[in-house]
Amino acid sequence: MKAIVIGAGIGGMSAAIALEKAGFTTAVFEAVKEMKPVGAAISIWPNGVKCLNALGMKEPLRALGGNMAFMAYNDAHSGHTLTRFSMKPLVQQVGEYPYPVARAELQAMLIDTYGRSRISFGKRVTQVEQTEQGVTAWFDDGSQAEGDFLIAADGAHSVIRHYVLGERVERRYAGYVNWNGLVTIDETIAPADQWTTFVGEGKRVSLMPVSDNRFYFFFDVPLAKGLPEDRATLKNDLKGYFSGWAEPVQRLIESLNPQTTNRVEIHDIEPFSRFVKGRVALLGDAAHSTTPDIGQGGCAAMEDAVVLAQTLASHSLGIEDALLRYEARRVDRTKDLVIKARKRCDVTHAKDAEVTAAWYADLKNETGERVLAGMIDTIEGGPFG
Ligand code: FAD
Repeated sequence: MKAIVIGAGIGGMSAAIALEKAGFTTAVFEAVKEMKPVGAAISIWPNGVKCLNALGMKEPLRALGGNMAFMAYNDAHSGHTLTRFSMKPLVQQVGEYPYPVARAELQAMLIDTYGRSRISFGKRVTQVEQTEQGVTAWFDDGSQAEGDFLIAADGAHSVIRHYVLGERVERRYAGYVNWNGLVTIDETIAPADQWTTFVGEGKRVSLMPVSDNRFYFFFDVPLAKGLPEDRATLKNDLKGYFSGWAEPVQRLIESLNPQTTNRVEIHDIEPFSRFVKGRVALLGDAAHSTTPDIGQGGCAAMEDAVVLAQTLASHSLGIEDALLRYEARRVDRTKDLVIKARKRCDVTHAKDAEVTAAWYADLKNETGERVLAGMIDTIEGGPFG
């Protein structure tokens, strides 16, 4: 049985590795000639980590991950700690650590695990067709590929989603812009073993440790969509948006490199319930595109990959049947994640100013228990519990 996998992102590579482990032959086709991940880093929560462990990447992943032993929220202006707590209860409950990792390194780990030379780069799929026997994908260079089934992991702007759903879906602007990048750890900005977030005015500034003494940082600002983007003014723009914020935030802005800082307008897609058409299945952001507010988009793609391979390997009524079982196992789970992230997004970014003010007040009384309980619930909803 041969699977055609479209897209060599987190979803496509996890799927290809999982399928090969389950005994399928795979061929991966990626549109770009060279992978350039859009974000600087990503937090892989234990549900995602368990998937990568099961796919044989336990040790390399551990080497890339930062030590996020504590979590803290600080007041935007005074910089005072509103709450700080250990992540230990979460780790003990779910049996695995969270790992913030640099995206380029995660991508390289996935690609190297699969075999870089086996991936066909510069192959942009334009169309797919299927018969009762198999699937054909056409590429923009006029070439084509054939397989028994096709996994569409072609991201949030998926062209294959339209084929599967029979209609186009629009991305929804979540109302804020995110800047992200990497800087050398500076403990005058935040402790090296802590996920630190400064909150106020519906904005946030966050720092997470990744390997090699680096912080992954991000800034969120509620803004209109489509504003001009200019690296030359990036630092001044951030200084304006975070004027009056605490000294560590100003130091972070000073220390970042505008040339390697990404600016992303955050979107999601209203969840839908169809991931499969015959022998073609959507996976990752092609199937469910979320805001990053609970850090679960990439983890959900890893979960998809594991469940897909498990379902195909453990059923005998044919490809179409197994793919529908994959869909049945993934639709509600991924819908929950998208909606949960959307709710978190609205509170964090002051969609309703009163609700956000109440959250800031609550943080002063937070012992960690409620925050961790929410995270544990999300993590335990994954395929490995
Ligand atoms: P993508 O990563 O988009 O990969 C799709 C691939 O398909 C690309 O390589 C693309 O070039 C290729 N492709 C596209 N079209 C075609 C075509 N026609 N033919 C062939 N190839 C094609 N998730 C987390 O789990 N934790 C986090 O902390 C987190 N933080 C985030 C922060 C930000 C700012 C953002 C924007 C997202 C974050 N996410 C996070 C979400 C995560 O990045 C995505 O969910 C994940 O990258 C989805 O992987 P994917 O493989 O489905 O899609």
